[in-house]
Amino acid sequence: MAPRLVVFGASLTLFLQHPRLYIYVSQNPRYTVLIQTTCLLLFFLALSPLGKAAEIPSSAAVAETEAIYADLADSYGIISTIDSDLFANYRGKDRTAWEHIYSEKRKQLTKMLSKISTAGLSPLDGRAVDVMNRHLRDDFPEEFNDQNAPPEHCQDAHRRDLSVKSLEGALHSCFTEVGNNLEFEGKRLTRVSALGMLEEINEEERRKKLFYAFEPLWNAVDGKHNATSPYRRLLPLVVSAEAAHGSRIDSAAKTIGVSSQKVEHWLEQILDTWRQVDGREMVEPWNYGYRGGEATRLLSSVTPKDSFVPVNQRYYRDLGVDLHQLGVLYDLEVRPGKAPLAYTDYVTRGRLVDGKWRPTVVRISGSYATGGLGLLNELVHENGHAVHMMAIHVRPAFMDLGDELFVEAFADVPSWNTYEPAWQRKYLGQAASEAVSLRGLFSSVMFDVAWALFECRMLHSPGADPNAVWTDITSRYLHIVPHPELSWWAMRVQLVQLPGYMVNYGLGSVLTADIRQHTREALGQFETGSPQWYSWTSEHLLRFGEEFDTSTLLKQFLGRPVSPQALLDQIRRIGRQ
Ligand SMILES: [Zn+2]
Repeated sequence: MAPRLVVFGASLTLFLQHPRLYIYVSQNPRYTVLIQTTCLLLFFLALSPLGKAAEIPSSAAVAETEAIYADLADSYGIISTIDSDLFANYRGKDRTAWEHIYSEKRKQLTKMLSKISTAGLSPLDGRAVDVMNRHLRDDFPEEFNDQNAPPEHCQDAHRRDLSVKSLEGALHSCFTEVGNNLEFEGKRLTRVSALGMLEEINEEERRKKLFYAFEPLWNAVDGKHNATSPYRRLLPLVVSAEAAHGSRIDSAAKTIGVSSQKVEHWLEQILDTWRQVDGREMVEPWNYGYRGGEATRLLSSVTPKDSFVPVNQRYYRDLGVDLHQLGVLYDLEVRPGKAPLAYTDYVTRGRLVDGKWRPTVVRISGSYATGGLGLLNELVHENGHAVHMMAIHVRPAFMDLGDELFVEAFADVPSWNTYEPAWQRKYLGQAASEAVSLRGLFSSVMFDVAWALFECRMLHSPGADPNAVWTDITSRYLHIVPHPELSWWAMRVQLVQLPGYMVNYGLGSVLTADIRQHTREALGQFETGSPQWYSWTSEHLLRFGEEFDTSTLLKQFLGRPVSPQALLDQIRRIGRQ
């Protein structure tokens, strides 16, 4: 039966048999849309000849297609996991067997989807078909490709005949081949470890040397810093490839219901607020991380890498969710060839099997060679993605996370607490002061905002000189001494792997602060846990997956449009000290 009919039938039954319960349900904001829909249906049913609503076509064909779709998504997740080296076999089958399943399911799905017309389907079935078509086009390519290990090598980035995807792949490989092999004091370091060390090394000369250890990476991405550099050849290709459906910045803007111009304005407003509370002293780029890193240094003895998983487990348990029980798979050791950034992904997605819910399986990949507050925060963020995935409980077509901006912003909702003194006291046994902690959080958030603004401007004017654009932003707002001769913006793999993606972190901070504020209004402070946090957040925000547009979901959750005010208030806490 069409789900909307089920809602209608259930509401009518509820109203007739339990009027008081119906009033309770109808006063719960989560049900408002359903109730409104039901009222509208009742109204139209009254106007139409009897039995008209029963003509909504059966959704059997859609359900059958969704079962194939679920198999396709699972085979994709399993192959990705095998390629990440977490395991070699799954459910008794090796990679070749799973790849065979992937291509068979993809063929079947393509055929079935091509036969379904959305005309005459219920709105929810119609949406399910649209969502599956979109993911089939964007996320499940004919040839399986592992996003975290593209076939191209870094040196391919010099070739002029590459497609946009291949050039992105080649530049992504630069972060694995070069970025994960930075040479410093006779040792090889990963980019992530080196960035952490820039916050911790006390001698300025050593910090400067470590900063310059990134130079091979900058040069791999930006060549000879002229118009022929791989990055500068990539941008026009990205812009023309996205001309038809808009950039990642356009979709991030759509997620929170504003224009792309407004996004750029907000980013500038956020950076300007930081500029005001930050003081006026200019710093060299190799000192920026150190200046914001006081909390990391103060807490380094209580944040060894071995503590990351147990601290996460304790903290999430206090938030009402047991990571161990959820069965999250961790792959956190450093090894050669590993993806150059931490990420969380599905192995298999939850679904009904013989009427019983088979839970989602999630894995987290990270490379933790060292400890530190910044990296601990990163793992709390990745677990934020994991609990989000685990909370989704819908039909197969909607078993995905929603818009990227929301996904990244949500993962920071729990992770920002690691920079609250109360959190540090409870989970680490000691704390930095509020000003020092918040400076630690926001100096790295501001970097993300700066990269987001950088990408807005670069994608707007792909012919611009990236060094000049980056120097203008970082000197004006972050008080960093200009070094236009260096391509030191090329520190983040997302800039080349998914140009425009940084907006999801930069602008994501607006949404993170807003969701955190709304959560505090509903549940009270949750810095040191809140037993209802997970069930409440799941019920009101997470469990729907892609059943609704993310913008609709956020509007319903917040009860008002997204605003940068909560973030600006948080940044100003630093100045109040
Ligand atoms: Zn993330």
